[in-house]
Amino acid sequence: MRPSFRLPVEVCRRISNKCPCNAPRTFACGRWSSSSATARQWSTPLAKSLAEAITTTGPISVAAYMRQCLTSPDSGYYTAHTEGRDQFGQKGDFVTSPEISQVFGELIGIWVLAEWMSQGKMSSGVQLVEVGPGRGTLMDDMLRTIRNFKPLASSIDAIYLVEASPSLREAQRKLLCGDAPIQDIEYGYQSTCKYSECTKIIWYDDIKFVPQAVDKSPFIIAHEFFDALPIHVFQSVTPSPTESSVITSTTGTSPTRSSRLPQTNQWRELLVAPTRAPDRFSSTSSKESIPEFQLILPKSSTPHSLYLPSLSPRYTALLPTSNAVIEISPSSLSTISTIATLIGGANPTPKSPPKSRPTSGKTVSSPQPPPFQKPHPSGAALIIDYGPASTIPTHSLRGIRAHKPCSPFTSPGLVDISADVDFVGLADAAISASPGVEVHGPVEQGTWLRAMGGAERVDILVKGVAAGKDGDGAKERIEGAWRRLVDRGPQGMGRLYKVMAIVPHVEGREGRRPVGFGGEVVG
Ligand code: SAH
Repeated sequence: MRPSFRLPVEVCRRISNKCPCNAPRTFACGRWSSSSATARQWSTPLAKSLAEAITTTGPISVAAYMRQCLTSPDSGYYTAHTEGRDQFGQKGDFVTSPEISQVFGELIGIWVLAEWMSQGKMSSGVQLVEVGPGRGTLMDDMLRTIRNFKPLASSIDAIYLVEASPSLREAQRKLLCGDAPIQDIEYGYQSTCKYSECTKIIWYDDIKFVPQAVDKSPFIIAHEFFDALPIHVFQSVTPSPTESSVITSTTGTSPTRSSRLPQTNQWRELLVAPTRAPDRFSSTSSKESIPEFQLILPKSSTPHSLYLPSLSPRYTALLPTSNAVIEISPSSLSTISTIATLIGGANPTPKSPPKSRPTSGKTVSSPQPPPFQKPHPSGAALIIDYGPASTIPTHSLRGIRAHKPCSPFTSPGLVDISADVDFVGLADAAISASPGVEVHGPVEQGTWLRAMGGAERVDILVKGVAAGKDGDGAKERIEGAWRRLVDRGPQGMGRLYKVMAIVPHVEGREGRRPVGFGGEVVG
């Protein structure tokens, strides 16, 4: 469980105000230089290389910082190869729902079963896909459940795991494939599932590689995946009078008159830059408490600030609110669009015009593959994560290490960094990417787990333990784990986490609700 505290509110407030030198936080405040970046003692090699890069090219977006911290090949939190390192569990940094109780993955398996039934129990072409599978525990619990339903189990064509981390891929292979060898394939790796020699498990590091086909039905699970995808952060700023735009009269050959436009707010992208190095005389405790990086508010627009916040009326509605801060994750929007397209096919009209290149004076359109059409949408996706149900995330960037909240700007590569998921943003992007999908939820995790029959499953597990005269407190553990998943209080995950479904949109079946979102098992 990661976000037990909305920690960085104070951290963010603190870091987005003033630089320790008391000058406005612009890159030009001159508190870092290439020599200081090199001479300073950095907490990690990644901190040093980020600081050196920023010194050379200027402050970077929060998205670039997050991407480096989480998935840079040599030093990323998930991707660096550190012998014996495990991010999960008591000895790691955080615990996730599938690691808390087997019931979690089992109920997701049941949800897939219910969707497969309601879509006519296809006998082949099922793709089970998980993005960000961690240790593989959720997929293992799902597969253990699904193998009890033979027609569904035998309809599975292949299992796809989308994973950026080589060491987690290896953990998943051990758990899901046992002794079966793993081999390189184009863009990924392949092995065989321990539950069925006929089922391949294929790893890619991007969901774009999962094959699209009209006869495939992808059932896609994303648990605590979207919170790890990079965000850009924007603040609505009222330009100072000296920065205001000037319009010049275009009547006549020379400008005759100019007037100032009324002050309208602009989005500025908050960027990441190193903080001032603690000086030799500061006490150890203050050195430790100052994060190595900070957010700064640049004086001018970035390409992202001119483009991303104009993409949705939800964002533009906040522009007049001075100092409003919004977080946008283009990687999440692109991933959810791919997910929606796999289920429902793409919109017939491509969003951008085909690229053209000039050849000897003539302009020739480069051939574009036609958008993937799926006359009969099929499959489904379940997204489980933390974030507000209807508002745009704000001030949500957080760090966690050894189960404690910490600044996301300390010890880059050793701290897990995440941000709230924008569920409405994901839903809008899914619907605009594919005409063949509809979105349900988000609903609170506790509500969803109960609607899926979780309490009844826990009763069965508890009775099984009692029948076996297990005296080591297993009953309390099972019940305690369940309480943690559904509890709506600040220590529980029942309200903080949300569940959202993407299912096929079928003419004539409007109003159908998936199980867990108000619907019944059908089929
Ligand atoms: N779903 C798991 C793990 C959540 S942690 C669970 O609930 O236990 C996030 C997972 O996403 C890890 O497996 C991490 O390696 C993976 N991940 C993070 N960023 C990724 C990216 N950009 N591409 C692919 N995988 C990523």
